[in-house]
Amino acid sequence: MNLKQLEAWFVTGSQHLYGPQTLKSVAAHSQEIARALNASSAIPVKVVFKPVMTTPDAITELCQAANNARGCIGLVTWCHTFSPSKMWINGLQQLRKPVAHLHTQYNRDIPWSTIDMDFMNMNQAAHGDREHGFIWSRLRKNRKVVAGFWQEQTVQQKLGAWARAAAAWADWQGARFCRFGDNMREVAVTEGDKVAAQARFGFSVNGHGVGDLVKLVNAVSDKEAGALAKEYEAAYAIAADLRPGGKRYKSVREAAEAARIELGLRAFLADGNFKGFTTTFEDLHGLAQLPGLAPQRLMADNYGFAAEGDWKTAALVRAMKVMAAGLDGGTSFMEDYTYHLEPGNPLVLGAHMLEICPSIAEGQPSLEVHPLGIGGKADPARLVFNTGAGPALNAALMDFGNRFRLLVNEVEVVAPGCPMPRLPVARAVWKCQPNFADACACWIYAGGAHHTGFSQAVTTEMLEDFAAIADIELLVIDADTNVRQFKNELRWNETAYGLKSGWGS
Ligand code: MN
Repeated sequence: MNLKQLEAWFVTGSQHLYGPQTLKSVAAHSQEIARALNASSAIPVKVVFKPVMTTPDAITELCQAANNARGCIGLVTWCHTFSPSKMWINGLQQLRKPVAHLHTQYNRDIPWSTIDMDFMNMNQAAHGDREHGFIWSRLRKNRKVVAGFWQEQTVQQKLGAWARAAAAWADWQGARFCRFGDNMREVAVTEGDKVAAQARFGFSVNGHGVGDLVKLVNAVSDKEAGALAKEYEAAYAIAADLRPGGKRYKSVREAAEAARIELGLRAFLADGNFKGFTTTFEDLHGLAQLPGLAPQRLMADNYGFAAEGDWKTAALVRAMKVMAAGLDGGTSFMEDYTYHLEPGNPLVLGAHMLEICPSIAEGQPSLEVHPLGIGGKADPARLVFNTGAGPALNAALMDFGNRFRLLVNEVEVVAPGCPMPRLPVARAVWKCQPNFADACACWIYAGGAHHTGFSQAVTTEMLEDFAAIADIELLVIDADTNVRQFKNELRWNETAYGLKSGWGS
């Protein structure tokens, strides 16, 4: 996944009033800034200079061209000089790509001893960008505003976070997600309106019979499955009892069965051009075991995944994989599984029945085969590992009837207090921000799901930008969260979204 194939267009607003000489300088300065942003390691996409905008027609044409350019993830706009914003209305009304408004100035310092009106007239973003901001606000359009000197690392990092969010958004447009089976029976939070989701997010979700997958799984030859099982042996630590002479040696054939499922799944997903999928243990007819190792390895290859038919989380995991491209740290499907409620040291153990992405593994994962007390199938293979200490976050996407809500909790992954030799699944152990009691209370007040996208690479800022692009509700539980304030935010948002889109059912 190489985000450098994508482009953000650098667009400078101006007008003809200044004359050709000034406009030439404006263009030269803009090119210099676009080149610097393009070269910045903080910005993962190409930054492409576009001609300085001086007429309503040119602005409208540019917005239409951006809409139609598949590789264009959005615009970075800036008004070095004054660009009367009525010129922008028609274009912005048509623009369907994300925008970051860079509020900067070409010249860093005021030249105190020599400043004159020529300097003032060239470096007037201080008011030119205010006119530009007004029209965005007046048209009630979301955009990210990044203020500061363009060479500063923090400014470039903010643009980089936006570019990652915009890249994930571009990836969702037209994306296809596949569900094998339906929702886990009677579960509420994993349900949702797939029509509303497609209209809002741009991706489609469709169900496929598990029998169609089984056909491809059964078509995998013993030789192909055996070859992949050999790859497993090379890539992972193999549990001692699975080695020849070990008491679970016969389970090795379950690993070969897992390889067969992986190859069948890969073929199915490639055939259908899917970017992610869901499974459910309640619908496995014809499969020997619940897919465990296969979703783990497919997630490591950037497929979105969630269990129990949870298509919203599968899509979210995919989006987070795109945001995280090229960064240190992994991203996985996750579930808040069990608690450690020691006074003064409360912790959450996150895991799932099987399907945690090895991109978050600390050290070499161990390939193991254990019974699964659910689903009534053969013992599934899975990778078992711990997650390295450090900052991370959990994000959940819920359907509230009249809107989607994205909920984020910043956490600190810690080393588990002791080894867990009897726990046969991958896991992460974390402390919540601002603290266990407040984080959990807020999460539950917000109706946050038990399934999440967990990431050591994606930041709250990227998700904030993503929510703004999608124009959905965002709630953040972090070090600054206060429960009473959070409850008020929920109450106020209910009213705000009610006024915006009509009261939901
Ligand atoms: Mn689950």
